[in-house]
Amino acid sequence: MSAKIVDGKLVSQVLREKMKLRVEELAKRDIQPGLAVILLGDDAASQVYVRNKVAACQAIGVQSRVYRLAANTSEQKVLEALKLLNNDSEINGILVQLPLPKHIDEDKILEIISPQKDVDGFHKINVGAMVTGHARFYPCTPHGVMKLLEYYGIAIEGRHAVVVGRSNIVGKPMALMLLEKGATVSICNSKTPDLASFTRQADIVVVAVGKPKVLSGDMIKPGATVIDVGINRLPDGSLAGDVDFESVREVAGFLTPVPGGVGPMTITMLLENTIRSSEMV
Ligand code: NAP
Repeated sequence: MSAKIVDGKLVSQVLREKMKLRVEELAKRDIQPGLAVILLGDDAASQVYVRNKVAACQAIGVQSRVYRLAANTSEQKVLEALKLLNNDSEINGILVQLPLPKHIDEDKILEIISPQKDVDGFHKINVGAMVTGHARFYPCTPHGVMKLLEYYGIAIEGRHAVVVGRSNIVGKPMALMLLEKGATVSICNSKTPDLASFTRQADIVVVAVGKPKVLSGDMIKPGATVIDVGINRLPDGSLAGDVDFESVREVAGFLTPVPGGVGPMTITMLLENTIRSSEMV
């Protein structure tokens, strides 16, 4: 058996076409959704992510502004810039590209962003709203995974989902969103003894670890859906996920590739949140 490959580029394209129509509707009300991105320093991967986000905005008619600040910009300066953006009526979404330089307190930065413009969904108020089933913005990566499952008609209710990784931006919200849809959820982490004993029970496995080949074909149930969130740069410069693609492909029912799986969906959900924010104005 060879898994069906879940095509994040295709699903993104379908969703972005629908978003264009919403942007056109907003234009009739003289509203153009606006996203502000703050990028500190010159981390190569962050630069690529920001470039991709800007291009995606442009393609569907969302205005974007990028503020490129030196890596040694003081925390105070960043906080002041964010306060101005909170009060800028042309901006509906604010995003600070992570990771931040060490001298900046990430919590402080994320908490100063207005919850109404927190299109990453990282503000504690938005996290709390999500936990209690009243999400304003779902965090983009797990939201993108949910949209992939929906597009391919993969059942969630009553299934066992195993999430590998417990970060605030992927693992934890992913687990919550699957739980909200009626899955029985296990969350694994670096201290989990015998990871395979969990993943082998799963109908859906989401891997968000950041290490290549954490999950191999012998660790999953035949026909399982495997979602690979990881992005790893290999020594030869190529990109790989967290999943051993070749061995998992032989056993899984559905599998996301890296690149071209979850990655494009993350940006698509950023667009979704920015448009949603401007629709709520
Ligand atoms: P993170 O904050 O470093 O979290 C990694 C998680 O993996 C931690 O909870 C860690 O457990 C767990 N872990 C580490 N080694 C493990 C092991 N051997 N077995 C089981 N669990 C293990 O990373 P993140 O921000 O969630 O990102 C995860 C990956 O997804 C990265 O490769 C990142 O680049 C990628 N990513 C992709 C997208 C996208 O759009 N496709 C978006 C965001 C992130 P402990 O908590 O116990 O340390």
